Amino acid sequence: MTEPAFRRILLKLSGEALMGDLAYGADPERIAAIAAQVKSVSDRGVEIAIVVGGGNIYRGLRGAAEGMDRATGDYMGMLATVLNALALQDALEKIGAVTRVQSAITISEVAEPYIRRRAMRHLEKGRVVIFAAGTGNPFFTTDTAAALRALEIHAETILMAKNGVEGVYSADPRDDPDATFIEEITHQEAIEQRLGVMDSTALSLCMDNALPIHVFNMEDERNIDRIVCGERVGTVVRSG
Ligand code: UDP
Repeated sequence: MTEPAFRRILLKLSGEALMGDLAYGADPERIAAIAAQVKSVSDRGVEIAIVVGGGNIYRGLRGAAEGMDRATGDYMGMLATVLNALALQDALEKIGAVTRVQSAITISEVAEPYIRRRAMRHLEKGRVVIFAAGTGNPFFTTDTAAALRALEIHAETILMAKNGVEGVYSADPRDDPDATFIEEITHQEAIEQRLGVMDSTALSLCMDNALPIHVFNMEDERNIDRIVCGERVGTVVRSG
């Protein structure tokens, strides 16, 4: 087996990644498939932390959130990520992975509070750490949470999972047939060209701290493993 190229990574899963073919909610089969990929990487000795989004559940709540104070709606979104984190934890533990969920909003009955040094200790012990509730602040996204946590725990890269696209394109390939695939790009270029890597707050944070991002298609089940092995997969965003 190839020696892993990374020792510690942060995987960002959007809520949509858990949705499979459903209109909203979480698909147990999809979650089980993701859990299996995470476990195989963890079994190779790579420390893996996960930031999970909430779009799949939050989308179903959008109607209820209509006209609501933005901050209240955002807290609902953060709580949605906790549900996803628990579903993912359950799927991982079913296949024998040891996991901890740390939440940026205190919910002591179901998750540990986010404590940076504790998260790092869990990782050192080979536990998969799932970060829930984003940054804990409204007006942010789980992309920003991914950038922030990755920097805090000294992850070497962010693996940014996308659904059905291989990485970053010059335009959205689902809308524009002329969109071309980009193998490598700098953070600065991605921000300037407004490409769909992650939101601009998150991307700026990665740029300022020279944190590389691997954008890849989550639907190919070998991809996480291939990136961890140092293979060229999807798009790499790094400082020029
Ligand atoms: N959210 C927030 N602060 C955070 C992270 C998330 O307010 O730090 C809220 C925000 O309303 C967001 C929702 O939670 O729309 C779900 O997160 P996100 O949209 O990032 O999930 P994804 O698109 O990755 O599934």
